[in-house]
Amino acid sequence: MAEEAFVSDGRPIDLQWGQICNQLKMEFGETAFDSWLKPLTVGDFKDGVMNICAPTAFMKNWVVTHYSDRINKIWEQQNPDIKRINFVVQTGFSDRRSVDTSLLKKISSSPTPQNIYGCNINSSSFGLVAGASLANDTSNNNNNVTNGTPLNPNYTFENFVVGKTNEFAYAAARKVAESKNVSFNPLFLYSSVGLGKTHLMHSIIWHIKKNDPTRNVIYLTAEQFVYKFVKALRYKDTAAFKEQFRSVDVLMVDDFQFMGNKGTTQEEFFHTFSSLVEEGKQVIISADKSPTDLDGIEERLKSRLVGGLVVDIMPTNFDLRMGILQKKAELMGIELPQKVAEFLAQKITSNVRELEGSLKRVAAHSQLLSGKEITLDMTQDVLKDMLRSIDRKTTIDEIQKKVAEHFNISVKELQSSRRARTVARPRQIAMYLAKQLTSRSLPEIGRKFDRDHTTVMHAVRKVEELIIEDQSLAENIEILRRTLEN
Ligand code: ADP
Ligand code: MG
Repeated sequence: MAEEAFVSDGRPIDLQWGQICNQLKMEFGETAFDSWLKPLTVGDFKDGVMNICAPTAFMKNWVVTHYSDRINKIWEQQNPDIKRINFVVQTGFSDRRSVDTSLLKKISSSPTPQNIYGCNINSSSFGLVAGASLANDTSNNNNNVTNGTPLNPNYTFENFVVGKTNEFAYAAARKVAESKNVSFNPLFLYSSVGLGKTHLMHSIIWHIKKNDPTRNVIYLTAEQFVYKFVKALRYKDTAAFKEQFRSVDVLMVDDFQFMGNKGTTQEEFFHTFSSLVEEGKQVIISADKSPTDLDGIEERLKSRLVGGLVVDIMPTNFDLRMGILQKKAELMGIELPQKVAEFLAQKITSNVRELEGSLKRVAAHSQLLSGKEITLDMTQDVLKDMLRSIDRKTTIDEIQKKVAEHFNISVKELQSSRRARTVARPRQIAMYLAKQLTSRSLPEIGRKFDRDHTTVMHAVRKVEELIIEDQSLAENIEILRRTLEN
């Protein structure tokens, strides 16, 4: 264990990590940050490899799948001495170097999303949301159902911009928030990432808490449900678990695609779900796919899920993107010239999260320069990396082609079910690169290889292990990455 702080660029490693944490918080929001990134700590740094420790394997895997690309990139920019980041599970707490959260506050040069928006919700004016603590209220420890997901104060119906692609989802969400008598149960919202599912879920909670604070709401992600259930099993505490979940008025499960494969957890969810629906309690679920397309979910549960109202949010159109930019600019209290808004709405079409992220970057830049006016030139300059990557988006097809070429096999073999090492290894590498270089989800990558998402997840982990053990394989991957990125 390297005890001394790492000071190659004059700053201790903890300080760098603190700054990275600030940036991650800006980009991913407090909810994700608090749930997944705050518990990480910096560990050893040796031979260019930086260890980042997660308290559990579950959390490590989650971080690797969802955040490692970004953490790598930011750290690469901060400190070129760090060649690679290795995520490890650290159960012994004695020798890890944890980041003091007061340090985070002290060095917080860039405002958190809440600060940018200028909102400061006084949580005490809202009833306690069982299972969801308020974003700005870190003292809220009464939270005995999930000690998890903070509610984002900006995710309200008022702040949700309605357009052709999301009006039905919006109307359905409003309806369940406003009426006690359930007209459709469950409400199942689905869309690809960053299109407003979580925003609508939080809006429902804010609405209920404001208008009907006695209603008992639980909001959590499917991951958290699984985690809690597994913990209850381990501590032989399932009776209390069942009791908590079955006594709610409204149960909301976000990101249902992470419910995990068939088994006891799904079974438990099925019973909880059924008993709530039978009692006329509202269940609201979001996922990245329709119930019928969800992988690894039992048939009887799927058929229950389609029994209510299934609504999708479609990708945005130009008008909606313009509307959203105007709304977000207003919330941030910034002046956004029409030309800049049009430019962003034209260029950043993938999802609202990225659109918002780009606006935040431009806004932060302007704030750092003491309120310098936002112009088209400045926008292009600030976003040049992002725009460049949009202009040359690496596709999975391209990755398959290059990897096949590199290993001297055909793309057909790469996609085949052959298990010979000469084919299987390149296939795993191609899956790994697809995860690293594209924004495709694990199931989407899987489909391109005619495999399911667990195979992709396994491949990604395998390659991560191999990169550490096998120098020549690591070099091969590096070469491939460079060719694909150019
Ligand atoms: P999802 O849960 O579908 O991945 P989120 O709800 O997290 O997406 O949305 C990503 C970001 O985009 C959030 O900051 C959210 O406020 C914003 N957003 C998405 N749709 C809208 C909309 N129609 N109006 C305003 N903001 C939106
Ligand atoms: Mg979400």
